[in-house]
Amino acid sequence: MKRIRPDFYNEFHCIADSCTITCCQEWKIAVDPDTNRKWKKVSAPADVPEQKKNLSAYTEKKDGLRVIQLDSDHRCPFLSENRLCRLVTAYGDKILSETCTTFPREIHRFPCHIEETLMPCCPAVIDLLEQADASQFPDVPTECDTPLFQIRRNILRLLLPASSPVCSVEDYSIEPCSAEICSTEDLLLKIHYILQELYRNDSLDETLIRDYFSADTLSQLSDAIQSIHLPAEDTFFECNELLQDLAVNYQSEKLYCDFLNPITSLSEYISESATDFMHPISFPSLDTGTSLSELWSDFQIRFSEVQPLMLKFLANEIFSDLVTPDSHLEDLLIRIQWIALEYSAIRQSLFLQWLQNNRSTLTYEMVRRTLVIITRMTGYEEEDIRKYLTNGFEALIWDWGYFALILGH
Ligand code: SF4
Repeated sequence: MKRIRPDFYNEFHCIADSCTITCCQEWKIAVDPDTNRKWKKVSAPADVPEQKKNLSAYTEKKDGLRVIQLDSDHRCPFLSENRLCRLVTAYGDKILSETCTTFPREIHRFPCHIEETLMPCCPAVIDLLEQADASQFPDVPTECDTPLFQIRRNILRLLLPASSPVCSVEDYSIEPCSAEICSTEDLLLKIHYILQELYRNDSLDETLIRDYFSADTLSQLSDAIQSIHLPAEDTFFECNELLQDLAVNYQSEKLYCDFLNPITSLSEYISESATDFMHPISFPSLDTGTSLSELWSDFQIRFSEVQPLMLKFLANEIFSDLVTPDSHLEDLLIRIQWIALEYSAIRQSLFLQWLQNNRSTLTYEMVRRTLVIITRMTGYEEEDIRKYLTNGFEALIWDWGYFALILGH
């Protein structure tokens, strides 16, 4: 069976003790049944601080899943002070659970081919995305093609030309690439609109898909989107709420607190005290006389500087998660909503950090940490995404207006 993977997949190496956001803390580290059986017969390395009868005794059941029980600092008990895995040091890689062996790789087995991808919740993967050129996502083998893969291919083509080096590649004849047309938010708005239209159609075929992604249709969509007034104020306050909602469960479990507490405090302060977007607001570190409206537009300039990375990040999300082995068109629509929610939470988190850092540049470290933590926080299974959307929003399937509200343009 053919395997496909992004160009940068083979370049991945865990940076282990140099990793500043290790996956060995603040996470559910799953232990599969085979590993757990094996662990019942293996004792803990002597340097593990709390000695228990065997390795399995360091696990617990959480939300129906067997996971490693983290210590009071939310770290894996096998993580050493010098940020190396004590199990690997004592017994070699073979002792690890399937999750620890494969992370951050993700494998999807389709009936006709296998796809291997890398998840962005690892800083070494963000480094690879940052360094990669924009044309790194392969197509499915011709004999395995389906309408859903055709949709994904068109979406990737739509996203990637906006990352400047690819604008000149002949294959990308979908639409002209200009800063105005290629704003990431506008691209996502178009993608969502097209998916909704396809979803409303009774039958899905290649001609219909080609028609929706044709230069003509995309150009009409661009004009229509540009002509719609989306008040920045509404987008700003909605994203502020979205971020707080996303954070609340993690904060109650005392996870990601170093990252979340400062930004959610500021976010809550803004929600409570800054009811007028256009009027000056006072922050401890800001000159008086600055309104949220001015701050938000200043931030957009800084945020535009990291768009090449954001586009590669989004393309990676689309390639990895848009089409999975049991997907139907409705799943694609739900997944694009989830990606938009993730993007909005990343943008809002960066805005709040930028504000706290005296409105200087968005450093690569800041962007990388934000991408890693927000994607860990939104790394839900399909069923949990459906539950989150059903419980937290008016409907599981959003109308285009709400999608546009959280993205703005
Ligand atoms: S997050 Fe990535 S780089 Fe860091 S320890 Fe885990 S696999 Fe290695």
